[in-house]
Amino acid sequence: MLNFLRAESCLICNLSAGNNFSRQSELLRLGVLENKKDNPHLLFLKRHTCKDCLVHLPLLFPENTWCFEHTDLEVKALFSYKEPIKQLLLSYKFHHNLYLANWFAAIMFLAWQRFWLQLSKQSVIVPVPLGKKRLRQRGFNQAAVIAEIIAEFANLKIVPDLLIRQRETARQTEMRNKTARQTNLKDAFIINPEASNFIQKIKQDNLLIIIFDDVTTTGTTILEAAKPLLNTGIKTSAVVVATEHQRKS
Ligand SMILES: [Zn+2]
Repeated sequence: MLNFLRAESCLICNLSAGNNFSRQSELLRLGVLENKKDNPHLLFLKRHTCKDCLVHLPLLFPENTWCFEHTDLEVKALFSYKEPIKQLLLSYKFHHNLYLANWFAAIMFLAWQRFWLQLSKQSVIVPVPLGKKRLRQRGFNQAAVIAEIIAEFANLKIVPDLLIRQRETARQTEMRNKTARQTNLKDAFIINPEASNFIQKIKQDNLLIIIFDDVTTTGTTILEAAKPLLNTGIKTSAVVVATEHQRKS
């Protein structure tokens, strides 16, 4: 996949990348590049992100977490759903620029290592599934592709078919308001009946499921995906690449 990338050019602005990157990544607390063997993910990011674009990324940390009312579900988001992230995600998702998954996975993993250590080895990543029809149309599950790369980096187990989207739903972005979004997705997800042994193991070993998605607006999809797990008494948390959710504070 990486062969499609022009060496040392910024994915966001196409200008040359690399210069002064290290100082900025240090300031953003993403990590320090002291030598090339240090951190391959930071090095990858350096090759494909210029200093100016790095500075202007709509990063959300340290306030990158919110909880849904009346549930224990905690959601962590890396970016606010603004430019240039919006454009990169749309380009990845709708123009099949799959190489961008590597960029998202690299920066997500750096944040994961730096800020989200409580998502430990005792975690299993479960990407939000697409409906069959949507998957056929798009050809890939955008959340699952990024999640698989992160899982590999973090040496975490990933189970893409633990949840099933049992009916097709309209795009959440087409819904007029929050009530419409909730109705659209109500009970849309179930636990895969073939995964019952694995569910037992998750409970026995007290594992944490991390629901993973690319974008969330109100968090309705994440919450609906988490519901069957929470209802079964499984510890569940969530991570998204970008969010439009506004913190109430
Ligand atoms: Zn740039």
